[in-house]
Amino acid sequence: MQKNDFIELVIEDLGTDGAGIGRYHGMTFFVKDAVIGDTVLAKIMKLKKTYGYARLMEIKEASPNRVKPRCLYAKSCGGCQIQQMDYKSQLAYKQRKIRANLVRIGRFDEAYIDRVMEPMVGMEEPFGYRNKAQFPIGKNGDGEAVAGFYAGRTHSIIANTDCALGVPVNKEILETILAFMREFRVSAYDESERTGLIRHVLIRYGFDSKEIMVCLVANGETIPHEEILAERLGRIPGMTSICLNVNTENTNVILGERTRTVWGSPEITDALYLRNTSDFQRSGGKTVYRISAQSFYQVNPVQTEKLYSLALEYAGLTGKETVWDLYCGIGTISLFLARSAKQVYGVEAVHQAVQDARMNAKRNGIENAVFLEGKAEEVLPEFYGKTVMRGNDSAGDGCSSAVDMCLDGTKRRGECGAVDACPDETEGMRHPDVIVVDPPRKGCDEKCLETMLCMHPERIVYVSCDSATLARDLRKLCDGGYEVKRVRGVDQFGQTIHTECVVLIQRKHI
Ligand code: SAH
Repeated sequence: MQKNDFIELVIEDLGTDGAGIGRYHGMTFFVKDAVIGDTVLAKIMKLKKTYGYARLMEIKEASPNRVKPRCLYAKSCGGCQIQQMDYKSQLAYKQRKIRANLVRIGRFDEAYIDRVMEPMVGMEEPFGYRNKAQFPIGKNGDGEAVAGFYAGRTHSIIANTDCALGVPVNKEILETILAFMREFRVSAYDESERTGLIRHVLIRYGFDSKEIMVCLVANGETIPHEEILAERLGRIPGMTSICLNVNTENTNVILGERTRTVWGSPEITDALYLRNTSDFQRSGGKTVYRISAQSFYQVNPVQTEKLYSLALEYAGLTGKETVWDLYCGIGTISLFLARSAKQVYGVEAVHQAVQDARMNAKRNGIENAVFLEGKAEEVLPEFYGKTVMRGNDSAGDGCSSAVDMCLDGTKRRGECGAVDACPDETEGMRHPDVIVVDPPRKGCDEKCLETMLCMHPERIVYVSCDSATLARDLRKLCDGGYEVKRVRGVDQFGQTIHTECVVLIQRKHI
Protein backbone atom coordinates (compact mmCIF):
# COMPACT_ATOMS: atom_id res chain seq x y z
CA MET A 1 0.00 0.00 0.00
CA GLN A 2 1.44 3.38 -0.91
CA LYS A 3 0.61 6.97 -1.68
CA ASN A 4 -1.61 7.49 -4.76
CA ASP A 5 -3.00 3.94 -4.56
CA PHE A 6 -6.76 3.65 -5.12
CA ILE A 7 -8.63 1.76 -2.42
CA GLU A 8 -12.26 0.84 -1.92
CA LEU A 9 -13.66 1.58 1.53
CA VAL A 10 -16.92 1.24 3.38
CA ILE A 11 -17.40 4.30 5.61
CA GLU A 12 -18.27 3.21 9.14
CA ASP A 13 -17.89 6.31 11.25
CA LEU A 14 -17.02 10.01 11.22
CA GLY A 15 -13.95 11.55 12.84
CA THR A 16 -14.01 14.61 15.05
CA ASP A 17 -13.56 16.92 12.07
CA GLY A 18 -16.43 15.25 10.16
CA ALA A 19 -14.31 13.17 7.77
CA GLY A 20 -15.58 9.66 6.98
CA ILE A 21 -13.68 6.77 8.54
CA GLY A 22 -13.17 3.46 6.77
CA ARG A 23 -10.79 0.53 7.23
CA TYR A 24 -8.56 -1.10 4.68
CA HIS A 25 -6.21 -3.97 5.50
CA GLY A 26 -6.20 -3.09 9.19
CA MET A 27 -5.50 0.60 8.54
CA THR A 28 -7.87 3.43 9.38
CA PHE A 29 -8.46 5.95 6.61
CA PHE A 30 -10.00 9.41 6.89
CA VAL A 31 -11.96 10.47 3.81
CA LYS A 32 -13.33 14.03 3.73
CA ASP A 33 -16.91 14.44 2.41
CA ALA A 34 -17.73 10.75 2.81
CA VAL A 35 -20.85 9.75 4.76
CA ILE A 36 -21.41 6.75 7.02
CA GLY A 37 -22.76 3.95 4.84
CA ASP A 38 -21.04 5.10 1.63
CA THR A 39 -18.87 2.70 -0.31
CA VAL A 40 -16.20 4.88 -1.89
CA LEU A 41 -13.20 4.72 -4.13
CA ALA A 42 -10.48 6.84 -2.55
CA LYS A 43 -6.91 7.78 -3.39
CA ILE A 44 -4.32 7.54 -0.62
CA MET A 45 -2.81 10.98 -0.01
CA LYS A 46 -0.85 10.41 3.19
CA LEU A 47 0.17 7.25 5.06
CA LYS A 48 1.12 6.97 8.71
CA LYS A 49 1.84 3.79 10.69
CA THR A 50 -1.72 2.83 11.54
CA TYR A 51 -3.81 5.37 9.69
CA GLY A 52 -3.90 7.51 6.59
CA TYR A 53 -5.77 10.18 4.66
CA ALA A 54 -7.46 9.46 1.35
CA ARG A 55 -9.28 11.66 -1.15
CA LEU A 56 -12.79 10.79 -2.21
CA MET A 57 -12.64 9.95 -5.94
CA GLU A 58 -15.92 8.18 -6.57
CA ILE A 59 -18.97 7.15 -4.59
CA LYS A 60 -19.48 3.51 -5.59
CA GLU A 61 -22.61 3.12 -3.54
CA ALA A 62 -24.21 6.09 -1.80
CA SER A 63 -25.31 5.83 1.81
CA PRO A 64 -29.09 6.07 2.34
CA ASN A 65 -28.26 9.05 4.57
CA ARG A 66 -26.51 10.96 1.83
CA VAL A 67 -28.28 14.07 0.48
CA LYS A 68 -27.45 16.63 -2.18
CA PRO A 69 -25.92 19.63 -0.38
CA ARG A 70 -28.08 22.73 -0.67
CA CYS A 71 -25.06 24.97 -1.17
CA LEU A 72 -23.00 24.71 -4.36
CA TYR A 73 -19.84 25.31 -2.40
CA ALA A 74 -20.48 22.91 0.47
CA LYS A 75 -17.51 20.74 -0.45
CA SER A 76 -14.88 23.42 -0.87
CA CYS A 77 -16.02 25.93 1.77
CA GLY A 78 -14.64 25.51 5.27
CA GLY A 79 -17.88 26.57 6.96
CA CYS A 80 -19.95 23.39 6.63
CA GLN A 81 -18.48 19.92 7.03
CA ILE A 82 -21.50 17.60 6.91
CA GLN A 83 -24.04 19.19 4.55
CA GLN A 84 -23.98 15.97 2.52
CA MET A 85 -25.61 14.10 5.46
CA ASP A 86 -29.34 14.24 6.09
CA TYR A 87 -30.21 16.23 9.20
CA LYS A 88 -31.41 13.25 11.21
CA SER A 89 -28.06 11.54 10.68
CA GLN A 90 -26.26 14.75 11.66
CA LEU A 91 -28.09 14.72 14.99
CA ALA A 92 -27.34 11.04 15.51
CA TYR A 93 -23.66 11.72 14.78
CA LYS A 94 -23.57 14.55 17.32
CA GLN A 95 -25.30 12.44 19.96
CA ARG A 96 -22.73 9.67 19.42
CA LYS A 97 -19.87 12.16 19.54
CA ILE A 98 -20.96 13.57 22.92
CA ARG A 99 -21.50 10.05 24.28
CA ALA A 100 -18.13 8.82 22.98
CA ASN A 101 -16.26 11.74 24.54
CA LEU A 102 -17.96 11.23 27.90
CA VAL A 103 -16.99 7.57 27.85
CA ARG A 104 -13.48 7.88 26.41
CA ILE A 105 -12.25 11.16 27.89
CA GLY A 106 -14.56 11.42 30.90
CA ARG A 107 -14.16 7.70 31.76
CA PHE A 108 -17.86 7.36 32.55
CA ASP A 109 -19.54 4.01 32.33
CA GLU A 110 -21.42 3.52 29.04
CA ALA A 111 -24.59 2.18 30.63
CA TYR A 112 -24.57 5.08 33.09
CA ILE A 113 -24.23 7.65 30.29
CA ASP A 114 -27.09 6.00 28.42
CA ARG A 115 -29.27 6.42 31.52
CA VAL A 116 -28.56 10.13 32.00
CA MET A 117 -28.36 11.19 28.38
CA GLU A 118 -31.47 12.67 26.79
CA PRO A 119 -32.19 12.92 23.06
CA MET A 120 -30.55 15.73 21.14
CA VAL A 121 -32.62 18.90 20.72
CA GLY A 122 -32.61 19.41 16.95
CA MET A 123 -33.55 22.37 14.79
CA GLU A 124 -36.81 22.69 12.90
CA GLU A 125 -35.02 24.44 10.05
CA PRO A 126 -31.30 23.58 9.92
CA PHE A 127 -30.52 26.26 7.30
CA GLY A 128 -30.67 30.06 7.41
CA TYR A 129 -30.26 30.02 11.18
CA ARG A 130 -27.24 32.26 11.74
CA ASN A 131 -27.80 35.83 12.97
CA LYS A 132 -24.18 36.75 12.33
CA ALA A 133 -21.90 36.34 9.33
CA GLN A 134 -18.34 37.48 8.74
CA PHE A 135 -17.44 37.55 5.08
CA PRO A 136 -13.81 38.02 4.10
CA ILE A 137 -13.29 40.39 1.17
CA GLY A 138 -10.56 39.61 -1.35
CA LYS A 139 -9.77 39.64 -5.06
CA ASN A 140 -10.57 37.12 -7.76
CA GLY A 141 -8.22 36.17 -10.63
CA ASP A 142 -9.19 39.34 -12.51
CA GLY A 143 -8.36 41.54 -9.53
CA GLU A 144 -12.04 42.29 -8.80
CA ALA A 145 -13.31 42.48 -5.24
CA VAL A 146 -15.21 39.38 -4.08
CA ALA A 147 -16.90 38.40 -0.83
CA GLY A 148 -17.20 34.83 0.32
CA PHE A 149 -15.74 32.27 2.66
CA TYR A 150 -12.39 30.68 3.23
CA ALA A 151 -11.85 27.29 1.66
CA GLY A 152 -11.29 24.66 4.38
CA ARG A 153 -8.01 25.23 6.27
CA THR A 154 -6.84 27.96 3.87
CA HIS A 155 -7.17 31.66 3.36
CA SER A 156 -8.20 31.58 -0.28
CA ILE A 157 -11.66 33.05 -0.72
CA ILE A 158 -14.50 31.22 -2.42
CA ALA A 159 -16.83 33.89 -3.82
CA ASN A 160 -20.31 33.33 -2.42
CA THR A 161 -22.61 36.08 -1.21
CA ASP A 162 -25.45 33.69 -0.46
CA CYS A 163 -24.40 31.37 2.38
CA ALA A 164 -27.11 28.79 3.09
CA LEU A 165 -26.64 29.16 6.85
CA GLY A 166 -27.15 32.92 6.84
CA VAL A 167 -30.13 35.21 6.34
CA PRO A 168 -31.22 36.26 2.80
CA VAL A 169 -30.43 39.95 3.37
CA ASN A 170 -26.69 39.13 3.56
CA LYS A 171 -26.64 38.85 -0.23
CA GLU A 172 -28.19 42.28 -0.81
CA ILE A 173 -25.78 43.90 1.64
CA LEU A 174 -22.69 42.28 0.13
CA GLU A 175 -23.70 43.03 -3.46
CA THR A 176 -24.31 46.68 -2.50
CA ILE A 177 -20.84 46.87 -0.96
CA LEU A 178 -19.12 45.11 -3.88
CA ALA A 179 -20.87 47.35 -6.44
CA PHE A 180 -19.79 50.40 -4.44
CA MET A 181 -16.19 49.14 -4.33
CA ARG A 182 -16.18 48.67 -8.13
CA GLU A 183 -17.72 52.08 -8.79
CA PHE A 184 -15.42 54.04 -6.51
CA ARG A 185 -12.35 51.82 -6.96
CA VAL A 186 -12.15 50.98 -3.29
CA SER A 187 -9.65 48.15 -2.95
CA ALA A 188 -9.97 44.82 -1.19
CA TYR A 189 -7.35 43.92 1.39
CA ASP A 190 -4.59 41.62 0.23
CA GLU A 191 -3.36 39.48 3.11
CA SER A 192 0.01 38.54 1.67
CA GLU A 193 0.91 42.03 0.44
CA ARG A 194 -0.83 43.78 3.35
CA THR A 195 -2.22 46.32 0.90
CA GLY A 196 -5.79 47.33 0.05
CA LEU A 197 -8.57 48.57 2.30
CA ILE A 198 -11.62 46.39 2.96
CA ARG A 199 -10.83 43.22 4.94
CA HIS A 200 -14.15 41.84 6.15
CA VAL A 201 -17.85 42.59 6.30
CA LEU A 202 -19.57 41.60 9.53
CA ILE A 203 -23.35 41.43 9.41
CA ARG A 204 -25.65 40.92 12.40
CA TYR A 205 -29.38 40.45 12.12
CA GLY A 206 -31.81 40.49 15.05
CA PHE A 207 -34.21 37.61 14.42
CA ASP A 208 -36.77 39.13 16.78
CA SER A 209 -36.14 42.87 16.26
CA LYS A 210 -35.37 42.59 12.50
CA GLU A 211 -32.62 45.16 13.07
CA ILE A 212 -29.48 44.92 10.93
CA MET A 213 -25.90 45.93 11.67
CA VAL A 214 -23.20 46.11 9.01
CA CYS A 215 -19.65 46.53 10.22
CA LEU A 216 -16.95 47.03 7.58
CA VAL A 217 -13.50 46.04 8.77
CA ALA A 218 -10.91 48.23 7.08
CA ASN A 219 -7.15 48.45 6.92
CA GLY A 220 -7.43 52.20 7.51
CA GLU A 221 -9.37 54.89 9.33
CA THR A 222 -11.83 55.82 6.59
CA ILE A 223 -13.37 54.51 3.40
CA PRO A 224 -13.48 56.98 0.48
CA HIS A 225 -17.06 58.18 -0.10
CA GLU A 226 -18.29 56.18 2.88
CA GLU A 227 -21.31 58.48 3.17
CA ILE A 228 -22.51 57.25 -0.24
CA LEU A 229 -22.11 53.63 0.82
CA ALA A 230 -23.93 54.37 4.08
CA GLU A 231 -26.76 56.05 2.23
CA ARG A 232 -27.16 53.03 -0.07
CA LEU A 233 -26.99 50.48 2.72
CA GLY A 234 -29.30 52.64 4.82
CA ARG A 235 -32.08 52.07 2.29
CA ILE A 236 -32.21 48.37 3.11
CA PRO A 237 -35.24 47.80 5.38
CA GLY A 238 -34.19 47.13 8.97
CA MET A 239 -30.78 48.76 8.64
CA THR A 240 -30.03 50.17 12.10
CA SER A 241 -26.29 50.42 12.44
CA ILE A 242 -23.41 50.88 10.00
CA CYS A 243 -19.97 50.85 11.59
CA LEU A 244 -16.37 50.90 10.56
CA ASN A 245 -13.88 48.83 12.48
CA VAL A 246 -10.20 49.69 12.05
CA ASN A 247 -7.82 46.75 11.80
CA THR A 248 -4.36 47.58 10.43
CA GLU A 249 -2.63 44.61 12.08
CA ASN A 250 -1.11 41.64 10.30
CA THR A 251 -3.38 39.14 12.04
CA ASN A 252 -6.03 36.46 11.56
CA VAL A 253 -8.21 38.15 14.16
CA ILE A 254 -11.08 39.73 12.25
CA LEU A 255 -11.87 42.81 14.33
CA GLY A 256 -9.47 45.50 15.40
CA GLU A 257 -9.90 47.40 18.65
CA ARG A 258 -11.59 50.57 17.43
CA THR A 259 -15.09 50.83 15.98
CA ARG A 260 -16.68 54.03 14.70
CA THR A 261 -20.36 54.51 13.90
CA VAL A 262 -20.78 55.68 10.31
CA TRP A 263 -24.57 55.72 10.16
CA GLY A 264 -27.39 55.13 12.64
CA SER A 265 -26.85 53.56 16.01
CA PRO A 266 -23.63 51.94 17.36
CA GLU A 267 -25.58 48.82 18.26
CA ILE A 268 -28.64 46.74 17.50
CA THR A 269 -30.98 45.08 19.95
CA ASP A 270 -32.51 41.66 19.89
CA ALA A 271 -34.70 39.67 22.26
CA LEU A 272 -34.74 36.11 23.49
CA TYR A 273 -37.79 34.48 25.09
CA LEU A 274 -37.99 32.19 28.09
CA ARG A 275 -40.04 29.15 27.29
CA ASN A 276 -40.64 27.44 30.59
CA THR A 277 -40.30 29.49 33.73
CA SER A 278 -42.87 30.03 36.39
CA ASP A 279 -42.73 33.81 36.14
CA PHE A 280 -43.06 33.75 32.40
CA GLN A 281 -46.25 35.77 32.79
CA ARG A 282 -44.70 38.60 34.76
CA SER A 283 -41.82 39.23 32.40
CA GLY A 284 -43.63 38.24 29.28
CA GLY A 285 -40.71 35.86 28.97
CA LYS A 286 -38.84 38.43 26.96
CA THR A 287 -35.28 39.60 27.58
CA VAL A 288 -33.86 42.35 25.38
CA TYR A 289 -30.14 42.50 24.62
CA ARG A 290 -27.97 45.26 23.29
CA ILE A 291 -25.42 43.89 20.85
CA SER A 292 -22.46 45.92 19.63
CA ALA A 293 -20.06 44.90 16.84
CA GLN A 294 -17.60 43.37 19.27
CA SER A 295 -19.96 41.61 21.69
CA PHE A 296 -20.31 37.87 21.84
CA TYR A 297 -23.89 36.84 21.13
CA GLN A 298 -25.07 33.32 20.39
CA VAL A 299 -25.37 32.89 16.61
CA ASN A 300 -28.48 30.72 16.53
CA PRO A 301 -31.22 32.51 18.48
CA VAL A 302 -33.92 29.89 17.96
CA GLN A 303 -31.80 27.13 19.48
CA THR A 304 -30.32 29.47 22.09
CA GLU A 305 -33.77 29.92 23.61
CA LYS A 306 -34.08 26.16 23.90
CA LEU A 307 -30.55 25.86 25.29
CA TYR A 308 -31.06 28.52 27.96
CA SER A 309 -34.50 27.28 28.89
CA LEU A 310 -32.94 23.88 29.44
CA ALA A 311 -30.07 25.36 31.48
CA LEU A 312 -32.70 27.11 33.59
CA GLU A 313 -34.68 23.92 34.06
CA TYR A 314 -31.50 22.08 35.14
CA ALA A 315 -30.68 24.91 37.57
CA GLY A 316 -33.93 24.08 39.43
CA LEU A 317 -34.51 27.61 40.75
CA THR A 318 -37.33 28.52 43.11
CA GLY A 319 -36.56 32.19 43.70
CA LYS A 320 -34.44 31.71 46.84
CA GLU A 321 -31.13 30.77 45.28
CA THR A 322 -27.80 32.48 44.93
CA VAL A 323 -26.29 31.66 41.56
CA TRP A 324 -22.93 32.29 39.88
CA ASP A 325 -22.89 32.48 36.11
CA LEU A 326 -19.29 32.07 34.98
CA TYR A 327 -18.21 33.11 31.45
CA CYS A 328 -21.41 35.14 31.25
CA GLY A 329 -20.68 37.23 28.12
CA ILE A 330 -23.26 40.02 27.80
CA GLY A 331 -25.31 38.41 30.56
CA THR A 332 -27.50 36.31 28.33
CA ILE A 333 -27.92 33.35 30.67
CA SER A 334 -27.54 35.47 33.82
CA LEU A 335 -30.62 37.52 32.99
CA PHE A 336 -32.63 34.39 32.23
CA LEU A 337 -31.58 33.01 35.63
CA ALA A 338 -32.14 36.25 37.54
CA ARG A 339 -35.89 36.15 37.06
CA SER A 340 -36.09 32.88 38.95
CA ALA A 341 -33.29 33.33 41.51
CA LYS A 342 -32.64 35.54 44.52
CA GLN A 343 -29.31 36.82 43.28
CA VAL A 344 -27.06 36.16 40.27
CA TYR A 345 -23.34 36.98 39.98
CA GLY A 346 -21.94 36.96 36.47
CA VAL A 347 -18.21 36.77 35.72
CA GLU A 348 -16.80 37.72 32.34
CA ALA A 349 -13.28 38.49 31.09
CA VAL A 350 -14.09 40.96 28.29
CA HIS A 351 -14.61 44.54 29.47
CA GLN A 352 -17.11 45.56 26.77
CA ALA A 353 -19.21 42.45 27.39
CA VAL A 354 -19.41 43.26 31.13
CA GLN A 355 -20.55 46.79 30.26
CA ASP A 356 -23.18 45.34 27.93
CA ALA A 357 -24.30 42.87 30.59
CA ARG A 358 -24.84 45.69 33.12
CA MET A 359 -26.72 47.73 30.54
CA ASN A 360 -28.84 44.72 29.59
CA ALA A 361 -29.79 44.13 33.22
CA LYS A 362 -30.88 47.75 33.53
CA ARG A 363 -32.79 47.71 30.27
CA ASN A 364 -34.75 44.67 31.41
CA GLY A 365 -35.40 46.07 34.89
CA ILE A 366 -33.40 43.28 36.53
CA GLU A 367 -31.88 44.38 39.82
CA ASN A 368 -30.61 41.12 41.21
CA ALA A 369 -27.81 40.48 38.73
CA VAL A 370 -24.30 41.81 39.38
CA PHE A 371 -21.46 41.50 36.89
CA LEU A 372 -17.81 41.16 37.82
CA GLU A 373 -15.04 41.70 35.32
CA GLY A 374 -12.13 39.27 35.20
CA LYS A 375 -11.15 35.73 34.40
CA ALA A 376 -13.26 33.11 36.12
CA GLU A 377 -10.11 31.28 37.29
CA GLU A 378 -8.91 34.47 38.97
CA VAL A 379 -12.11 36.11 40.20
CA LEU A 380 -13.51 32.98 41.82
CA PRO A 381 -10.42 31.80 43.79
CA GLU A 382 -9.57 35.34 44.80
CA PHE A 383 -13.07 35.85 46.02
CA TYR A 384 -13.35 32.53 47.76
CA GLY A 385 -9.86 32.60 49.30
CA LYS A 386 -9.75 36.10 50.65
CA THR A 387 -13.42 36.87 50.73
CA VAL A 388 -12.47 40.43 49.96
CA MET A 389 -11.95 41.02 46.31
CA ARG A 390 -10.32 44.09 44.87
CA GLY A 391 -10.90 44.83 41.25
CA ASN A 392 -11.36 47.83 39.00
CA ASP A 393 -13.46 50.64 40.21
CA SER A 394 -15.47 50.27 37.07
CA ALA A 395 -18.57 52.05 38.28
CA GLY A 396 -16.46 55.00 39.47
CA ASP A 397 -18.15 54.95 42.89
CA GLY A 398 -15.24 53.77 45.02
CA CYS A 399 -16.40 50.16 45.06
CA SER A 400 -14.42 47.65 43.18
CA SER A 401 -17.00 44.92 43.44
CA ALA A 402 -20.03 43.59 45.18
CA VAL A 403 -17.93 41.97 47.83
CA ASP A 404 -15.55 44.74 48.66
CA MET A 405 -18.11 47.15 49.88
CA CYS A 406 -19.32 44.90 52.63
CA LEU A 407 -16.18 43.36 53.87
CA ASP A 408 -13.59 46.08 53.90
CA GLY A 409 -15.85 48.24 55.98
CA THR A 410 -15.61 51.28 53.76
CA LYS A 411 -19.07 50.97 52.35
CA ARG A 412 -22.30 49.83 53.79
CA ARG A 413 -25.09 47.80 52.37
CA GLY A 414 -26.77 49.53 49.46
CA GLU A 415 -24.56 52.60 49.66
CA CYS A 416 -22.84 51.95 46.40
CA GLY A 417 -26.00 51.56 44.45
CA ALA A 418 -24.41 48.94 42.27
CA VAL A 419 -25.21 46.00 44.51
CA ASP A 420 -26.94 45.16 47.67
CA ALA A 421 -24.38 42.98 49.35
CA CYS A 422 -24.07 42.26 53.07
CA PRO A 423 -22.22 39.65 55.16
CA ASP A 424 -25.08 37.16 54.86
CA GLU A 425 -25.03 37.63 51.19
CA THR A 426 -21.27 37.12 51.11
CA GLU A 427 -21.78 33.74 52.71
CA GLY A 428 -24.32 33.02 50.00
CA MET A 429 -21.75 33.98 47.42
CA ARG A 430 -19.10 31.73 48.95
CA HIS A 431 -21.48 28.84 49.04
CA PRO A 432 -24.02 29.40 46.27
CA ASP A 433 -26.85 27.05 45.49
CA VAL A 434 -26.05 26.81 41.83
CA ILE A 435 -23.06 27.56 39.59
CA VAL A 436 -23.62 27.83 35.86
CA VAL A 437 -20.58 27.73 33.54
CA ASP A 438 -20.49 28.37 29.80
CA PRO A 439 -16.79 28.45 28.88
CA PRO A 440 -15.23 28.78 25.42
CA ARG A 441 -14.03 25.61 23.65
CA LYS A 442 -11.00 25.09 25.82
CA GLY A 443 -13.26 24.48 28.81
CA CYS A 444 -12.75 25.58 32.43
CA ASP A 445 -9.40 26.30 33.93
CA GLU A 446 -8.32 23.87 36.64
CA LYS A 447 -8.23 26.61 39.29
CA CYS A 448 -11.79 27.53 38.46
CA LEU A 449 -12.96 23.92 38.83
CA GLU A 450 -11.13 23.50 42.14
CA THR A 451 -12.74 26.61 43.56
CA MET A 452 -16.16 25.53 42.35
CA LEU A 453 -15.68 22.30 44.33
CA CYS A 454 -14.66 24.27 47.44
CA MET A 455 -17.81 26.36 47.14
CA HIS A 456 -19.82 23.11 47.11
CA PRO A 457 -22.95 24.33 45.34
CA GLU A 458 -25.85 21.94 45.31
CA ARG A 459 -25.97 21.93 41.53
CA ILE A 460 -23.64 22.85 38.67
CA VAL A 461 -25.03 23.44 35.21
CA TYR A 462 -22.35 23.09 32.56
CA VAL A 463 -23.13 24.57 29.13
CA SER A 464 -20.45 23.47 26.69
CA CYS A 465 -19.58 23.98 23.03
CA ASP A 466 -16.92 21.25 23.04
CA SER A 467 -17.82 17.86 24.44
CA ALA A 468 -14.16 16.79 24.71
CA THR A 469 -13.21 19.51 27.21
CA LEU A 470 -16.62 19.07 28.84
CA ALA A 471 -15.85 15.38 29.46
CA ARG A 472 -12.44 16.26 30.93
CA ASP A 473 -13.98 18.83 33.30
CA LEU A 474 -16.86 16.57 34.33
CA ARG A 475 -14.37 13.90 35.37
CA LYS A 476 -12.69 16.39 37.73
CA LEU A 477 -16.00 17.53 39.18
CA CYS A 478 -17.20 13.97 39.67
CA ASP A 479 -13.92 12.95 41.34
CA GLY A 480 -14.54 15.90 43.64
CA GLY A 481 -17.87 14.60 44.96
CA TYR A 482 -20.42 15.34 42.23
CA GLU A 483 -22.44 13.18 39.91
CA VAL A 484 -23.80 13.72 36.43
CA LYS A 485 -27.60 13.68 36.50
CA ARG A 486 -28.68 14.83 33.07
CA VAL A 487 -26.95 15.39 29.72
CA ARG A 488 -28.54 16.86 26.62
CA GLY A 489 -27.10 18.03 23.32
CA VAL A 490 -28.68 21.07 21.68
CA ASP A 491 -27.81 21.51 18.03
CA GLN A 492 -26.88 25.12 17.45
CA PHE A 493 -24.84 24.58 14.32
CA GLY A 494 -26.61 22.42 11.72
CA GLN A 495 -24.46 21.28 8.74
CA THR A 496 -21.32 21.63 10.84
CA ILE A 497 -19.60 19.20 13.20
CA HIS A 498 -20.01 21.53 16.17
CA THR A 499 -22.49 20.94 18.92
CA GLU A 500 -23.62 22.45 22.16
CA CYS A 501 -24.42 20.42 25.26
CA VAL A 502 -25.96 21.06 28.71
CA VAL A 503 -25.17 18.94 31.75
CA LEU A 504 -26.67 18.91 35.23
CA ILE A 505 -24.20 17.90 37.91
CA GLN A 506 -25.35 17.38 41.46
CA ARG A 507 -23.49 17.20 44.76
CA LYS A 508 -23.40 13.72 46.24
CA HIS A 509 -24.68 13.53 49.79
CA ILE A 510 -22.95 10.76 51.69
N1 SAH B 1 -22.77 32.69 28.46
C1 SAH B 1 -22.61 33.66 27.41
C2 SAH B 1 -21.22 33.66 26.77
C3 SAH B 1 -20.63 32.33 26.44
S1 SAH B 1 -19.21 32.38 25.41
C4 SAH B 1 -23.67 33.49 26.35
O1 SAH B 1 -24.28 32.44 26.27
O2 SAH B 1 -23.89 34.40 25.57
C5 SAH B 1 -17.90 32.36 26.54
C6 SAH B 1 -17.60 33.70 27.17
O3 SAH B 1 -16.52 33.49 28.06
C7 SAH B 1 -17.17 34.81 26.23
O4 SAH B 1 -17.97 35.93 26.48
C8 SAH B 1 -15.71 35.08 26.61
O5 SAH B 1 -15.36 36.43 26.51
C9 SAH B 1 -15.67 34.63 28.04
N2 SAH B 1 -14.37 34.16 28.57
C10 SAH B 1 -13.38 33.53 27.92
N3 SAH B 1 -12.43 33.16 28.78
C11 SAH B 1 -12.83 33.56 30.01
C12 SAH B 1 -12.28 33.44 31.32
N4 SAH B 1 -11.11 32.84 31.52
N5 SAH B 1 -12.98 33.94 32.35
C13 SAH B 1 -14.18 34.55 32.16
N6 SAH B 1 -14.74 34.70 30.94
C14 SAH B 1 -14.08 34.21 29.89
